[in-house]
Amino acid sequence: MKYVVVSGGVISGIGKGVLASSTGLLFKTLGYRVTSIKIDPYMNIDAGTMSPLEHGECFVLNDGGEVDLDLGNYERYLNITLTKDHNITTGKIYSHVIEKERKGDYLGKTVQVVPHITDAIQAWIERVARIPVDESGLEPEVCIIELGGTVGDIESAPFVEALRQFQFRVENFALIHVSLVLVIHGEQKTKPTQAAIKDLRSLGLTPDMIACRCSEELETATVQKIGMFCHVGPEQVIAIRDVNSTYHVPLLLQEQKMMRFLAKKLSLDTSLLTKDAR
Ligand code: ADP
Repeated sequence: MKYVVVSGGVISGIGKGVLASSTGLLFKTLGYRVTSIKIDPYMNIDAGTMSPLEHGECFVLNDGGEVDLDLGNYERYLNITLTKDHNITTGKIYSHVIEKERKGDYLGKTVQVVPHITDAIQAWIERVARIPVDESGLEPEVCIIELGGTVGDIESAPFVEALRQFQFRVENFALIHVSLVLVIHGEQKTKPTQAAIKDLRSLGLTPDMIACRCSEELETATVQKIGMFCHVGPEQVIAIRDVNSTYHVPLLLQEQKMMRFLAKKLSLDTSLLTKDAR
Protein backbone atom coordinates (compact mmCIF):
# COMPACT_ATOMS: atom_id res chain seq x y z
CA MET A 1 0.00 0.00 0.00
CA LYS A 2 1.23 3.47 -0.89
CA TYR A 3 0.13 6.33 1.34
CA VAL A 4 -0.06 9.95 0.21
CA VAL A 5 -0.89 12.45 2.94
CA VAL A 6 -2.19 15.89 2.06
CA SER A 7 -1.91 18.50 4.80
CA GLY A 8 -2.33 22.25 4.77
CA GLY A 9 -0.89 25.37 6.30
CA VAL A 10 -1.49 29.14 6.48
CA ILE A 11 -5.31 29.15 6.15
CA SER A 12 -8.18 26.68 6.13
CA GLY A 13 -10.14 26.10 2.93
CA ILE A 14 -6.93 26.35 0.94
CA GLY A 15 -7.85 23.54 -1.48
CA LYS A 16 -6.50 20.40 0.20
CA GLY A 17 -9.54 18.39 -0.77
CA VAL A 18 -9.33 19.35 -4.42
CA LEU A 19 -5.59 18.66 -4.50
CA ALA A 20 -6.02 15.31 -2.74
CA SER A 21 -8.75 14.13 -5.13
CA SER A 22 -6.79 15.38 -8.15
CA THR A 23 -3.67 13.52 -7.00
CA GLY A 24 -5.78 10.39 -6.54
CA LEU A 25 -7.09 10.80 -10.07
CA LEU A 26 -3.53 10.87 -11.46
CA PHE A 27 -2.79 7.57 -9.69
CA LYS A 28 -6.00 6.16 -11.10
CA THR A 29 -5.03 7.14 -14.64
CA LEU A 30 -1.84 5.11 -14.13
CA GLY A 31 -4.02 2.10 -13.41
CA TYR A 32 -3.79 2.00 -9.62
CA ARG A 33 -6.76 1.21 -7.39
CA VAL A 34 -7.15 4.30 -5.23
CA THR A 35 -8.98 4.89 -1.97
CA SER A 36 -9.10 7.90 0.30
CA ILE A 37 -9.50 8.82 3.94
CA LYS A 38 -10.53 12.21 5.23
CA ILE A 39 -9.45 13.23 8.74
CA ASP A 40 -11.54 15.93 10.42
CA PRO A 41 -10.05 17.05 13.70
CA TYR A 42 -13.30 18.02 15.40
CA MET A 43 -15.02 16.42 18.40
CA ASN A 44 -18.29 15.71 16.56
CA ILE A 45 -18.63 12.03 15.72
CA ASP A 46 -19.72 13.04 12.23
CA ALA A 47 -20.82 16.07 10.22
CA GLY A 48 -24.54 15.17 10.57
CA THR A 49 -25.10 17.39 13.61
CA MET A 50 -23.21 20.41 12.29
CA SER A 51 -24.95 23.52 11.02
CA PRO A 52 -24.84 23.74 7.23
CA LEU A 53 -24.49 27.52 7.66
CA GLU A 54 -21.20 26.99 9.41
CA HIS A 55 -19.86 23.93 7.67
CA GLY A 56 -21.69 23.56 4.37
CA GLU A 57 -24.06 20.70 3.61
CA CYS A 58 -22.98 17.28 4.80
CA PHE A 59 -22.50 14.52 2.25
CA VAL A 60 -24.44 11.29 2.75
CA LEU A 61 -22.66 8.08 1.80
CA ASN A 62 -24.23 4.84 0.55
CA ASP A 63 -24.00 3.30 4.03
CA GLY A 64 -25.85 6.30 5.52
CA GLY A 65 -22.69 7.93 6.92
CA GLU A 66 -23.09 11.72 7.19
CA VAL A 67 -19.68 13.12 6.39
CA ASP A 68 -17.70 16.08 5.10
CA LEU A 69 -18.34 17.31 1.55
CA ASP A 70 -14.79 16.35 0.56
CA LEU A 71 -15.80 12.69 0.55
CA GLY A 72 -18.22 13.54 -2.23
CA ASN A 73 -15.29 14.98 -4.19
CA TYR A 74 -13.38 11.74 -3.73
CA GLU A 75 -16.29 9.61 -4.83
CA ARG A 76 -16.80 11.70 -8.00
CA TYR A 77 -13.14 12.18 -8.98
CA LEU A 78 -12.17 8.57 -8.28
CA ASN A 79 -15.43 6.78 -9.06
CA ILE A 80 -15.40 4.93 -5.74
CA THR A 81 -17.88 4.23 -2.95
CA LEU A 82 -16.64 5.11 0.52
CA THR A 83 -17.92 4.07 3.94
CA LYS A 84 -18.44 6.15 7.05
CA ASP A 85 -15.17 4.76 8.45
CA HIS A 86 -13.32 6.60 5.66
CA ASN A 87 -14.06 9.79 7.54
CA ILE A 88 -12.04 9.85 10.77
CA THR A 89 -12.97 12.50 13.33
CA THR A 90 -11.51 13.23 16.76
CA GLY A 91 -14.92 12.26 18.17
CA LYS A 92 -14.83 8.81 16.53
CA ILE A 93 -11.28 8.07 17.68
CA TYR A 94 -11.89 9.16 21.27
CA SER A 95 -15.15 7.27 21.55
CA HIS A 96 -13.44 4.13 20.16
CA VAL A 97 -10.59 4.42 22.69
CA ILE A 98 -12.93 5.22 25.61
CA GLU A 99 -15.11 2.22 24.73
CA LYS A 100 -12.03 -0.02 24.80
CA GLU A 101 -10.94 1.51 28.10
CA ARG A 102 -14.37 0.73 29.66
CA LYS A 103 -14.03 -2.90 28.54
CA GLY A 104 -10.64 -3.04 30.28
CA ASP A 105 -8.72 -3.62 27.07
CA TYR A 106 -5.80 -1.50 28.25
CA LEU A 107 -5.15 -3.83 31.22
CA GLY A 108 -4.89 -1.17 33.91
CA LYS A 109 -2.63 1.15 31.93
CA THR A 110 -3.08 4.94 32.05
CA VAL A 111 -4.81 5.73 28.77
CA GLN A 112 -3.09 8.69 27.08
CA VAL A 113 -3.15 10.66 23.84
CA VAL A 114 0.30 9.24 23.07
CA PRO A 115 0.41 6.28 22.58
CA HIS A 116 -3.25 5.19 22.83
CA ILE A 117 -5.01 7.79 20.69
CA THR A 118 -2.13 7.95 18.19
CA ASP A 119 -2.00 4.14 17.95
CA ALA A 120 -5.76 4.00 17.42
CA ILE A 121 -5.47 6.55 14.58
CA GLN A 122 -2.73 4.54 12.84
CA ALA A 123 -4.57 1.23 13.23
CA TRP A 124 -7.77 2.84 11.92
CA ILE A 125 -5.98 4.19 8.83
CA GLU A 126 -4.36 0.81 8.09
CA ARG A 127 -7.66 -1.04 8.49
CA VAL A 128 -9.80 1.33 6.41
CA ALA A 129 -7.20 1.74 3.63
CA ARG A 130 -7.67 -1.97 2.83
CA ILE A 131 -11.44 -1.82 2.33
CA PRO A 132 -12.29 -2.39 -1.38
CA VAL A 133 -14.03 0.72 -2.71
CA ASP A 134 -14.52 0.09 -6.42
CA GLU A 135 -16.39 -2.48 -8.52
CA SER A 136 -13.27 -4.69 -8.80
CA GLY A 137 -13.81 -5.66 -5.15
CA LEU A 138 -10.02 -5.79 -4.70
CA GLU A 139 -7.88 -4.17 -2.03
CA PRO A 140 -6.78 -0.63 -3.03
CA GLU A 141 -3.10 0.01 -3.82
CA VAL A 142 -2.90 3.74 -3.08
CA CYS A 143 -4.49 5.55 -0.16
CA ILE A 144 -4.82 9.33 -0.20
CA ILE A 145 -5.22 10.74 3.32
CA GLU A 146 -6.39 14.31 3.71
CA LEU A 147 -5.68 15.91 7.06
CA GLY A 148 -8.33 18.58 7.56
CA GLY A 149 -7.66 21.82 9.41
CA THR A 150 -4.29 23.54 9.53
CA VAL A 151 -1.05 22.00 10.79
CA GLY A 152 -0.11 23.68 14.06
CA ASP A 153 -3.69 23.82 15.43
CA ILE A 154 -4.21 22.18 18.84
CA GLU A 155 -7.06 20.14 17.31
CA SER A 156 -4.93 18.39 14.74
CA ALA A 157 -1.92 17.72 17.01
CA PRO A 158 -2.75 14.03 17.81
CA PHE A 159 -3.26 13.33 14.09
CA VAL A 160 -0.01 15.07 13.13
CA GLU A 161 1.86 13.01 15.74
CA ALA A 162 0.13 9.81 14.55
CA LEU A 163 1.16 10.57 10.95
CA ARG A 164 4.72 11.36 12.07
CA GLN A 165 4.92 7.86 13.57
CA PHE A 166 3.05 6.36 10.64
CA GLN A 167 5.70 7.47 8.10
CA PHE A 168 8.15 5.07 9.77
CA ARG A 169 5.60 2.29 10.18
CA VAL A 170 4.80 1.92 6.47
CA GLU A 171 7.09 1.43 3.51
CA ASN A 172 5.75 3.94 1.00
CA PHE A 173 4.74 7.32 2.35
CA ALA A 174 4.68 10.76 0.74
CA LEU A 175 3.54 14.06 2.20
CA ILE A 176 2.16 16.96 0.16
CA HIS A 177 1.73 20.20 2.06
CA VAL A 178 -0.62 22.78 0.60
CA SER A 179 0.33 26.37 1.24
CA LEU A 180 -0.62 29.86 0.08
CA VAL A 181 1.39 32.35 -1.94
CA LEU A 182 -0.10 35.81 -1.52
CA VAL A 183 0.15 38.46 -4.20
CA ILE A 184 0.55 41.91 -2.64
CA HIS A 185 1.08 44.96 -4.86
CA GLY A 186 1.91 42.62 -7.70
CA GLU A 187 4.58 40.77 -5.70
CA GLN A 188 4.37 37.06 -4.86
CA LYS A 189 5.03 36.60 -1.17
CA THR A 190 6.60 33.36 0.04
CA LYS A 191 6.99 34.15 3.76
CA PRO A 192 3.69 32.46 4.88
CA THR A 193 4.79 29.30 3.03
CA GLN A 194 8.23 29.41 4.65
CA ALA A 195 6.61 29.74 8.09
CA ALA A 196 4.13 26.92 7.35
CA ILE A 197 6.92 24.54 6.32
CA LYS A 198 8.95 25.48 9.39
CA ASP A 199 5.91 24.61 11.57
CA LEU A 200 5.51 21.30 9.75
CA ARG A 201 9.18 20.36 10.16
CA SER A 202 9.13 21.30 13.86
CA LEU A 203 6.44 18.62 14.29
CA GLY A 204 8.63 15.97 12.66
CA LEU A 205 7.03 15.93 9.21
CA THR A 206 9.05 16.66 6.08
CA PRO A 207 7.19 17.75 2.95
CA ASP A 208 7.92 15.73 -0.18
CA MET A 209 6.01 18.25 -2.24
CA ILE A 210 4.80 21.77 -1.52
CA ALA A 211 1.64 22.69 -3.41
CA CYS A 212 1.27 26.47 -3.59
CA ARG A 213 -2.18 27.95 -4.10
CA CYS A 214 -1.88 31.32 -5.76
CA SER A 215 -4.32 33.64 -7.52
CA GLU A 216 -1.95 33.70 -10.50
CA GLU A 217 0.78 31.65 -12.21
CA LEU A 218 3.86 31.21 -9.93
CA GLU A 219 6.97 32.99 -11.21
CA THR A 220 10.15 30.94 -11.62
CA ALA A 221 11.87 33.14 -9.04
CA THR A 222 9.09 32.34 -6.53
CA VAL A 223 9.46 28.59 -7.10
CA GLN A 224 13.23 28.86 -6.66
CA LYS A 225 12.86 30.91 -3.50
CA ILE A 226 10.41 28.41 -1.96
CA GLY A 227 12.76 25.58 -2.92
CA MET A 228 15.73 27.30 -1.31
CA PHE A 229 14.05 28.45 1.91
CA CYS A 230 12.01 25.30 2.39
CA HIS A 231 14.85 22.94 1.51
CA VAL A 232 13.21 21.13 -1.41
CA GLY A 233 14.07 20.89 -5.10
CA PRO A 234 12.18 23.01 -7.66
CA GLU A 235 10.48 19.83 -9.00
CA GLN A 236 8.94 19.43 -5.54
CA VAL A 237 7.14 22.79 -5.71
CA ILE A 238 3.78 22.59 -7.47
CA ALA A 239 1.88 25.71 -8.45
CA ILE A 240 -1.90 25.64 -8.25
CA ARG A 241 -3.32 28.84 -9.60
CA ASP A 242 -7.00 29.71 -9.30
CA VAL A 243 -8.96 28.01 -12.05
CA ASN A 244 -12.57 28.38 -13.22
CA SER A 245 -13.36 24.74 -12.59
CA THR A 246 -11.60 22.59 -10.02
CA TYR A 247 -11.73 19.74 -12.56
CA HIS A 248 -8.77 21.55 -14.22
CA VAL A 249 -6.55 20.93 -11.20
CA PRO A 250 -5.53 17.36 -12.24
CA LEU A 251 -4.32 18.86 -15.55
CA LEU A 252 -2.26 21.48 -13.72
CA LEU A 253 -0.61 18.70 -11.71
CA GLN A 254 0.03 16.63 -14.80
CA GLU A 255 1.57 19.59 -16.70
CA GLN A 256 4.00 20.03 -13.81
CA LYS A 257 4.94 16.34 -13.90
CA MET A 258 3.89 15.72 -10.33
CA MET A 259 3.78 11.95 -10.83
CA ARG A 260 7.41 11.86 -11.92
CA PHE A 261 8.53 12.85 -8.43
CA LEU A 262 5.89 10.75 -6.63
CA ALA A 263 6.82 7.72 -8.74
CA LYS A 264 10.39 7.91 -7.44
CA LYS A 265 9.33 8.54 -3.87
CA LEU A 266 6.74 5.76 -3.78
CA SER A 267 8.66 3.25 -5.95
CA LEU A 268 5.97 3.18 -8.63
CA ASP A 269 6.45 1.39 -11.89
CA THR A 270 7.75 4.29 -14.05
CA SER A 271 6.95 2.43 -17.27
CA LEU A 272 3.32 3.32 -16.49
CA LEU A 273 4.03 7.04 -16.80
CA THR A 274 3.17 8.52 -20.16
CA LYS A 275 6.13 9.85 -22.13
CA ASP A 276 5.35 13.48 -21.34
CA ALA A 277 5.04 12.77 -17.59
CA ARG A 278 8.41 11.01 -17.43
P1 ADP B 1 -9.89 22.40 2.04
O1 ADP B 1 -10.00 20.91 1.81
O2 ADP B 1 -8.48 22.87 2.24
O3 ADP B 1 -10.83 22.91 3.06
P2 ADP B 1 -11.25 22.55 -0.50
O4 ADP B 1 -10.49 21.60 -1.36
O5 ADP B 1 -12.55 22.11 0.07
O6 ADP B 1 -10.32 23.11 0.67
O7 ADP B 1 -11.42 23.90 -1.34
C1 ADP B 1 -11.98 25.07 -0.77
C2 ADP B 1 -12.68 25.87 -1.86
O8 ADP B 1 -11.72 26.35 -2.81
C3 ADP B 1 -13.67 25.02 -2.67
O9 ADP B 1 -14.81 25.79 -2.93
C4 ADP B 1 -12.93 24.70 -3.96
O10 ADP B 1 -13.81 24.53 -5.04
C5 ADP B 1 -12.04 25.95 -4.13
N1 ADP B 1 -10.77 25.64 -4.83
C6 ADP B 1 -9.85 24.71 -4.52
N2 ADP B 1 -8.82 24.73 -5.38
C7 ADP B 1 -9.09 25.72 -6.29
C8 ADP B 1 -8.40 26.26 -7.45
N3 ADP B 1 -7.20 25.79 -7.85
N4 ADP B 1 -8.99 27.27 -8.11
C9 ADP B 1 -10.19 27.77 -7.72
N5 ADP B 1 -10.88 27.33 -6.65
C10 ADP B 1 -10.36 26.31 -5.94
